[in-house]
Amino acid sequence: METLDRLLGSLRECCAELPDKRTGKNGHYGMADIGLAAFSVFFMQSPSFLAHQQHLAQGQGRSNCETLFGMTAIPSDNHIRAMLDPVGPERFHPVFAAVIAELERSGGLAAFRRLGEHVLIALDGTEYFRSAKLSCANCSTRARAGERTSGALRDKTESFHSAVIAALVAPGHARVVPLEPEFIGPQDGAAKQDCESRAARRWLAAHGPRYARLAPIYLGDDLYSRQPVCAAVLATGGHFLFVCKPDSHPTLQEYLTGIELPEHVERHKHGRERFVYRYRWLAAAPLRDGKDALTVNWLSIEIVNPAGKVTYRNSFVTDLAIDASTVAELAACGRARWKIENETFNVLKTKGYHLEHNFGHGRDNLAAVLATLNLLAFACHTVCDLAAVAWQQAMATLGRRTRFFETLRSLTGYMIFPSWLDLLETLAFARPPPPAAL
Ligand SMILES: [Zn+2]
Repeated sequence: METLDRLLGSLRECCAELPDKRTGKNGHYGMADIGLAAFSVFFMQSPSFLAHQQHLAQGQGRSNCETLFGMTAIPSDNHIRAMLDPVGPERFHPVFAAVIAELERSGGLAAFRRLGEHVLIALDGTEYFRSAKLSCANCSTRARAGERTSGALRDKTESFHSAVIAALVAPGHARVVPLEPEFIGPQDGAAKQDCESRAARRWLAAHGPRYARLAPIYLGDDLYSRQPVCAAVLATGGHFLFVCKPDSHPTLQEYLTGIELPEHVERHKHGRERFVYRYRWLAAAPLRDGKDALTVNWLSIEIVNPAGKVTYRNSFVTDLAIDASTVAELAACGRARWKIENETFNVLKTKGYHLEHNFGHGRDNLAAVLATLNLLAFACHTVCDLAAVAWQQAMATLGRRTRFFETLRSLTGYMIFPSWLDLLETLAFARPPPPAAL
């Protein structure tokens, strides 16, 4: 389990460097223990993991926090929350870089390459917290429709948190790899309320240059196919392939009208039925009105069922060249954007990570720090799924993901495993842990 050990090592290093708000020597828990403790709850998908390990440590003098996560002591939930609240969530970004390094090292990145040597990075905004009662310095706010309280109709203010999430995706690949998030919230010195487009541009400025070596093509919905975001992508040395709706791009739409567009047609079988895939494209069209408009290439896809009815239609803009030999793959890549909703947000919210659950809100950064650690747990699981043999064997034996985590939780609640390899081999082969562990 070198993959996981290296990832945890990188997280430990990163946590050890976190600013410690305590003045004087009034605490014996180091920041490494505090950061790893918070992460372990998400990684084990078990809110009670630390309580079980405290119980084990009382009875046996040590616990899986020590053997699996390299912690020296187990801080309490309240202490963890208090210590992580002042920490900026960007402090954990180096671990996302370690995730990509593990993918490259294992050769797992190759399966994400599309359109030659490119990778696809989907960007999308999602809300992960809302409350009428709790709020912090980094909450965004909005008015909620009037509610009748004691007879009077009053508008209530609702607090919420959202973020632009980035993920490595690829059509035909079952996994997604979450990258650094960028939180949407009040920004120092900004007069207007923050928004997804601004957060996406901050993401690109902060991380785009580093990812440029992977030749990324950024994917996004219609909100992204506006000049400021397209220009921000190009400025980082990346490419874009964004959904472009006719209604929101009237100039481009007008430009397309009356032109005989090049067309490419393919026929694909869905079961026993044949569907027609019709692609059209146009090079060098203006993205918007005005002299400074960016020149983009446009493409569309239509899927027609055997009865002649269009069952799917979408269009995109890109800076990449389009011709009959690439248009189908470009459209497939553009459509892979849905993976950030279906296979990233959906997994994070409904498949064991409970991204929208309030694990602790804090006064400053706690909500964002915990969301970042949750994303990081998802990223580490994905790398293990793709690159760690013992993990893959255990997952194959247990069949379902939920069963894998259930078993992980129950075994570690009663027994101490000297290493991840011992734990995963027990899961995979029903091999008892080494005697020292019993
Ligand atoms: Zn808040």
